[in-house]
Amino acid sequence: MLKDTFGREINYLRLSVTDRCDFRCVYCMAEDMTFLPRAQLLTLEELATVAAAFVELGVRKIRVTGGEPLIRRNVMQLFEQLGRLEGLRELTLTTNASQLRRFAAPLRRAGVRRINVSLDSLQPARFRQLTRHGDLQQVLQGIDAARDAGIERIKLNCVLMKNRNADELPDLVGFALQQQLDISFIEEMPLGNISEHDRGEEFVSSAELRRQLGRHYRLRPLDVSTGGPSRYWGIDGYDSRIGFISPHSENFCGACNRVRLSAEGRLLLCLGNEHSLDLRAVVRRHPGNRERLQQAIVAAMTIKPERHYFDLDREPQILRFMNATGG
Ligand code: SAM
Ligand code: SF4
Repeated sequence: MLKDTFGREINYLRLSVTDRCDFRCVYCMAEDMTFLPRAQLLTLEELATVAAAFVELGVRKIRVTGGEPLIRRNVMQLFEQLGRLEGLRELTLTTNASQLRRFAAPLRRAGVRRINVSLDSLQPARFRQLTRHGDLQQVLQGIDAARDAGIERIKLNCVLMKNRNADELPDLVGFALQQQLDISFIEEMPLGNISEHDRGEEFVSSAELRRQLGRHYRLRPLDVSTGGPSRYWGIDGYDSRIGFISPHSENFCGACNRVRLSAEGRLLLCLGNEHSLDLRAVVRRHPGNRERLQQAIVAAMTIKPERHYFDLDREPQILRFMNATGG
């Protein structure tokens, strides 16, 4: 079992398989984003090697993320390998769903039962504006395809910004209820410098969203935890869970069970801190040496910080964008 110095069990790995994306969401990327040269990315084989080392050490859940995971060439080979890892209990994916229509069935066959889809607007023109390149219709078709393929739980992730899309809160929740999807609202995090809006001005707290939603629905706190930072609410008569992820207003670090591997093989110990270890160097310096790799991973647990300190009133302290971190 992997434990950090604060006694937290680390059993969840978020695996970023690319920093590239076919979208450029306004809160996630700058428009003129430059991506890593391909040689700097871990190969699919290296990703599988690192994932296997983590699972042997006790990691039970892997979420594949990015950038947009489904645009990485041959990514299904990786899913198939991960799906066969003995000891792994859950293999999940976070996606913008642009390619999901094509990949839903193979993903299900590889063992993916739950996916998260990012969706910040149900209005086609606004969706295009927020994602800069996205086509809402394609995304909705992707969600249908995932359901048809037998993916059991689909959760929408929404970043609501006060003056851009927060007015869609009731519509997004209505859509989730009607489509039997879960939905989570994530407070925008100050990762990377963006120019299009001021994050402080756009900030809406989870508590405020719950208050607004209370005008439309009777929310009841649910006693469920997926081991993550979401707190869930339910609405009588519906199965959907409504989650709120509140890195600013409700610090959730005490129960942190996760680490992240960036697409270039940097093991990030905390989303809101720079503490990291270069696992690509370990894998490339000692090819095939699982023991060396596991020693490095165990050693990295000692530098996992206790918590993050996000502050919207200051310049971002974390200069990497979410696509480099893997959401
Ligand atoms: N491309 C995939 C997607 O959009 O689902 C996976 C990667 S994306 C970086 C993962 C999640 O991070 C998305 O749900 C996105 O909304 C969220 N995200 C990106 N930048 C963010 C920010 N600055 N604050 C909060 N959430 C952010
Ligand atoms: Fe791409 Fe996801 Fe970032 Fe949007 S949130 S730009 S879809 S990586």
